[in-house]
Amino acid sequence: MPELPEVETICRGLDRLLVGRVIAAVQVDWAKSFALDAEQLQSQVIGSQVQSLDRRAKVLIINLANPSLTTRYSLLFHLKMTGQLVLVKAGGERFAGGHPTESMAAGLPDRSTRVTFTFDNGDRLFFNDQRKFGWIQLVETDQVENHQLIARLGPEPLSPDFTAEHLASRVKRHPKAPIKAVILDQSTVAGVGNIYADESLHLARIHPARPGGSLKPFEIKRLHGAIRDIMTLGITYGGTSFTNYVNALGKKGDYLSRARVFRRQGQPCTALLSRGQVCGAIIEKMRVAGRGTHYCPRCQPWPKATKSKL
Ligand SMILES: [Zn+2]
Repeated sequence: MPELPEVETICRGLDRLLVGRVIAAVQVDWAKSFALDAEQLQSQVIGSQVQSLDRRAKVLIINLANPSLTTRYSLLFHLKMTGQLVLVKAGGERFAGGHPTESMAAGLPDRSTRVTFTFDNGDRLFFNDQRKFGWIQLVETDQVENHQLIARLGPEPLSPDFTAEHLASRVKRHPKAPIKAVILDQSTVAGVGNIYADESLHLARIHPARPGGSLKPFEIKRLHGAIRDIMTLGITYGGTSFTNYVNALGKKGDYLSRARVFRRQGQPCTALLSRGQVCGAIIEKMRVAGRGTHYCPRCQPWPKATKSKL
C-alpha cells in the first residue's frame, strides 16, 4: 500500500506530463477497475482536457475540463496493493509510478493492464493492476470533497488546517487510545500510515503505546511538528522502496535508507543526543494498535507516572 509521499511523488511526476493533454480514447479491459458505461465514457471523459493533478491522502486526482460540458469532472485513482501507472510517450520514453513489476518496462498493454488512456499527442497512460483491488472513478470536480473516501479524511499533514490544536482535540476524544492509533486514524490526519507514524513518534521522542491523554501540551506540539517534518522528508526522498513503489521517474523511493526506526529493530538508534552524542540504544519492535511498531526505548521512554498494561 503506498503512503502519502509515494502518491504525492507520482502526482508531481505525472503533473508535468499530463496537464494540457486531451483524452482521445479510453480502453477499459476490466470493467470493475473503471465502472463507467460507454455512453458516459464517450460524453464525460473522451475529449476532455487535463487541467491539473491533485492528491488527497492516497487518492490521485486528475481534474478535467470539456468545452462541450458545463459540469467539470475529475478522475480519481486508487492504486491499492498492486496498482501502477505507466505513461508511455509516443516516442517510447516512459514514466512509471506504483507497484514495480516487469510491466513497467514491458510492452504494454499486457495481462495486468486494466485501463488505457490515449492522449491527443499519442502518449498513453496505462493503469495496470495485477490483483485488481485498485480503481478509477469519475466524480464531479465540485463533489470530490464529498466522495465517501475523502469526506471522512482529516486535514492533509502539510496543509495549514493541520494544527497542533487540531491534533490536541483529536487526542482528547480518545484519551486512552495509544497515541500511535490516534495518528494512524485517517480522520485525525490524512495519509499517515505505519511507516511515517513510527518515524514521527521517534522524532518527537514519544513512546508509541502511550495513551494520547498522557501527552503534555508541549509533547503534542512536538509530535505535530514531527509529523510535518517526516512527511516532508518522505516526499523529498520520493517515498519508500519498501512499499514496492517507484516514483513517476521509475526510481525507487529512498526514504527507507534514511529511516530512524522503521524496520531497524535490533540495530542501534542513530538519534543525536545533546553535545553531539549518538543514542546507540537498540531499536525494539512491539505491537501497537495491531501494527508492528518500531521504537527506541531510550529516546522514547515510558514515562514513570503513566499507568499502562505494557
Ligand atoms: Zn534512541
